[in-house]
Amino acid sequence: MVDSDNPNGHNNKPQSQIYALRQQIDDINMQLLKLLNQRAEIAAEVGRIKSGMATSQYDPEREGDMLEVLQQANQGPFSNETIGALFKEIFSATLAMNSEKARSALLVERSDEHQRTVITLPDGTKIGDGSFQIISGPCAVESFEQLDEVAAALAKNGMSIMRGMAYKPRTSPYHFQGLGEEGLKIGRRVANKHGLMMVSEILDMSQIPLMSQYVDLFWVGARNMQNSFLLRALGNVRQPVILKRSFGATIEELLYAAEYIVSSGNPNVILMERGIRTFENWTRNTLDISAVPLLKQETHLPVIVDISHSAGRRDIANTLAKVAKASGADGLMVEVHPNPAVAMSDAKQQLSIPEFESMLAEIDMLPQV
Ligand code: PEP
Ligand code: MN
Repeated sequence: MVDSDNPNGHNNKPQSQIYALRQQIDDINMQLLKLLNQRAEIAAEVGRIKSGMATSQYDPEREGDMLEVLQQANQGPFSNETIGALFKEIFSATLAMNSEKARSALLVERSDEHQRTVITLPDGTKIGDGSFQIISGPCAVESFEQLDEVAAALAKNGMSIMRGMAYKPRTSPYHFQGLGEEGLKIGRRVANKHGLMMVSEILDMSQIPLMSQYVDLFWVGARNMQNSFLLRALGNVRQPVILKRSFGATIEELLYAAEYIVSSGNPNVILMERGIRTFENWTRNTLDISAVPLLKQETHLPVIVDISHSAGRRDIANTLAKVAKASGADGLMVEVHPNPAVAMSDAKQQLSIPEFESMLAEIDMLPQV
């Protein structure tokens, strides 16, 4: 006999049972959603208190304790392993949310897309105002004549900022370490003669009083990016600071390094991408060009691209210079030497003056991004 309610002869009771159970699950999902977000709000409050105390958002001990209590209370049917995995997922989502919140509270973080730090040097030169600044000069100051020849070319071509490197952080202690204070003196004399601003690398916070007398900008090299004592000390100088990314640092670590300087009182920080260490050995480092748009999205600080140390070779300098300009950077840094073949450091990458001028002509043809 055919059931009039069920013409196919099937029993529809299981279907309605499933429907009813699924409704219960839907209700529980809603409760879980509410509870998860309630939990997240409380955790965010803990995070806010913690960031005020400068303690880490991550507390593995507390996570371990919570798991232990949960697993002891667990009556199944989920195994303790499954409960552990589910709650660890909740913990890590909470940590990610709190870290994101803590990071967006950084001073170097951009609050909106129009916020930008524009740095004005004593001669009126601006960095970060939408212009494309070229910072240039030899790897190291070697003599008055050497620097003077480069400076004359910089001034002739309308550049404003000259490298006057007196302390060189070399890989080998037996290689040329720079002229020291003599190099600073030469740098200042040459800069004044040609109306240029001088930037020089600082290696240690003890050099601040001496170097402050000579430089228009301080420069922190890749090897010192995470020297937090030096970074904090540079928070108290009146000059802007160029901060290079370490060859082993993430973009986030570079931002935190900049935060040290800015939070210590010096808002005038310029970031410099200089290539990171990878397995590639046809270049000295690998220019991480995506760092430029990423940094520009995240921070209001100006970003400059070092096309010399990133490649370590001059034959691709013109292309890298164009790439730097097209990337939206606020400028580039390139090493120039009157006779690169006899340079006391970085001979393979420094451009001769004619090469530098040809690079300028090429990038001039590109519009500013
Ligand atoms: C430099 O630019 O002078 C220099 C030493 O480069 P880095 O610190 O990036 O190695
Ligand atoms: Mn160099």
